[in-house]
Amino acid sequence: MDESLRSEYEQLVDDVRRYRFAYYNEDAPLVSDAEFDRLFTRLTEIETLHPELVSNDSPTQEVGGEVSAAFSPVEHLSRMYSLEDVFSTSELSTWLTRASENAAVQAPAETLRWLCEVKIDGLAVNLLYRDGRLVRAATRGDGTTGEDVTHNVLTIATIPTELSGRGWPDEVEIRGEIFISSADFEEYNEQLIAAGKAPLANPRNAAAGSLRQKDAAETAKRPLRMFVHGIGMRTGLAATSQHETYDLLRDWGLPVSPYSEVLASEAEVFDYIERFGAQRHELIHEIDGIVVKADSFAIQRALGYTSRVPRWAAAFKYPPEEVHTRLLDIRVDV
Ligand code: NAD
Repeated sequence: MDESLRSEYEQLVDDVRRYRFAYYNEDAPLVSDAEFDRLFTRLTEIETLHPELVSNDSPTQEVGGEVSAAFSPVEHLSRMYSLEDVFSTSELSTWLTRASENAAVQAPAETLRWLCEVKIDGLAVNLLYRDGRLVRAATRGDGTTGEDVTHNVLTIATIPTELSGRGWPDEVEIRGEIFISSADFEEYNEQLIAAGKAPLANPRNAAAGSLRQKDAAETAKRPLRMFVHGIGMRTGLAATSQHETYDLLRDWGLPVSPYSEVLASEAEVFDYIERFGAQRHELIHEIDGIVVKADSFAIQRALGYTSRVPRWAAAFKYPPEEVHTRLLDIRVDV
């Protein structure tokens, strides 16, 4: 391997680590998401050419975040993952074909359906309910250990402290994305400006910064919301697919996204991407892409996980847009 490629690689590893720290631990990114994605993709390309570089602590093998000393560490009962990103419809087509072929071999009795969801630009949270009561909430952290944000999550009105309905397991981990809606974000910033304070830069960092406050009274002032997008520890759950699980979670009083659809073919997946791409700025919250998941739990189990991502889901990222934000009047990538 030539020296210039090695030094490019080492620089990329340093940059990705530094940018992740600023993004996850300080809720204050140093570069745009598009720039971060470009560096991460380049890192992956070099590792594909030189697999000998891939060590366990390479950023490509880890789920991005860390646990800040400001919070108590919490071990998730079941690991949390990131998502494999694809940046074009042709890359997505390759991914869908490979996943379909693997599903046909590894779970031949199952019908493959794609559950398409919008990718909410917020931060992941893991809610642990015991006997129907919310006992703990944690950020994703490094996927194994997250940060205890229970007191802060208890201030979010739409997250039930007790599950309603019936059929919930004694112990269940529910995963979702904490976000600030676009309308609430605009209103909150107008209030800040009226009070002579600096407005928040974007809804994602505002949501992350709001959830990761030391003082829950401060979190309570922020208009945080959540939509569920997954389930962790679930022994005893009476559902065989992700969409059936969402129906159950809705019955238990949890907020479920209105935008998810179960689709039968690649053509329908592409149509979903086009439809939501066209209306992305009219949705309740900001999105940075679309998540495509194999709906059946039997297929999810058969396809399994790498150390960083599930093999049964992928995130399609829309190309970055250049916009003028009305309040800040600066050019930003979203
Ligand atoms: P990711 O954004 O690639 O995807 C995984 C996350 O997506 C999940 O943990 C979950 O929180 C979220 N998500 C939202 N909607 C979802 C849905 N419907 N189903 C499942 N998950 C859903 O993961 P990541 O590892 O957190 O971050 C990588 C991304 O974060 C990068 O692509 C980049 O855009 C951004 N990032 C930016 C910087 C920066 O400096 N600007 C640094 C690090 C990461």
